[in-house]
Amino acid sequence: MDLHNEAVKIREAAAKAIQACRTTEDIEAVRVKYVGRKGRLTQLLRKLGDVPAEQRKEAGRILNETKEELTSLLTSRRSEIEESVRQQVRASETIDVTLPGRKPRLGKLHPTLRVLDEIVNVFIGLGFAVVEGPEIETEYNNFDALNFPPWHPSRDDFDSFYVAEGYVLRTHTSPAQIRVMKSQDPPVRVIVPGRCYRRDTPDASHLMSFFQIEGLYVDHDVSLADLKGTLAIFAREVFGPQTKIRFRPHYFPFTEPSAELDISCLVCAGKGCRLCKHSGWLEVLGCGMVHPNVFKHVGYDHRAVTGFAFGLGVERIAMLKYGIADIRTLYENDVRVLNGL
Ligand SMILES: [Zn+2]
Repeated sequence: MDLHNEAVKIREAAAKAIQACRTTEDIEAVRVKYVGRKGRLTQLLRKLGDVPAEQRKEAGRILNETKEELTSLLTSRRSEIEESVRQQVRASETIDVTLPGRKPRLGKLHPTLRVLDEIVNVFIGLGFAVVEGPEIETEYNNFDALNFPPWHPSRDDFDSFYVAEGYVLRTHTSPAQIRVMKSQDPPVRVIVPGRCYRRDTPDASHLMSFFQIEGLYVDHDVSLADLKGTLAIFAREVFGPQTKIRFRPHYFPFTEPSAELDISCLVCAGKGCRLCKHSGWLEVLGCGMVHPNVFKHVGYDHRAVTGFAFGLGVERIAMLKYGIADIRTLYENDVRVLNGL
């Protein structure tokens, strides 16, 4: 066997393999394969004994030189790889001071709350005081005192959440009227913002929980004209100075006469479009003159005082103001929607 030739072949193959190494694991594999305990070069060294004595010295020298050369190639390639890994780490850890910083995301008021604040401020400007009532109400305050007859369908537990015998999650903010009038003599001028609950199946215009604002004004000689004037100001402040209003006769147990307030369509200004179903008008709230039976329940003299009351759905107003077609959009907390409004 020509040891010299064999050594040259091993050297060439090993040098190529070392150049191809990309990781320190590759280096270790090449080392084991060629100069490890069972490596190709090591096996060749073991065969030195078979070489004729006069050639042995020369052959030994060649093999040892090859081993040293491969070992040194392995070492330097390993250093190269380690250095390049260090450089990569350094590059990835570098702070680029010219990069713009990450903007902290600021919270924003929820559209429902923004509209609620806006409406409340309009009425504060008109001299109304803000009061709040509990979300768990007595059935008496929520229905009886507001002149709901015992058979009224909204009392049904299909429509209301009863939390205990005689207690219900308020289905409207109107029971706060009862609380306020029971606790003070006329004149009364309050608005009551708050959350209400009804057993509705959520759809594009209904939720099981929503916000209302109740308004109540009781004094001597409060008339329907006062109601109309107050709501006209509300409509112009909230929807814009061009807004027209109209009353449509309606029925509520706790007001007589009762009406629904429409505003001129915000999209077509009365000409007729899809939003207003080509009527030119949008329904905004319910209102009316306080029913004498309500005054009787709170101990007011219904011959001496009159009053008006109204209740509006805050989400409904927010949807109209921001052009939202589906009420559920307001509560999906899509940041793009919340920021875009
Ligand atoms: Zn319209």
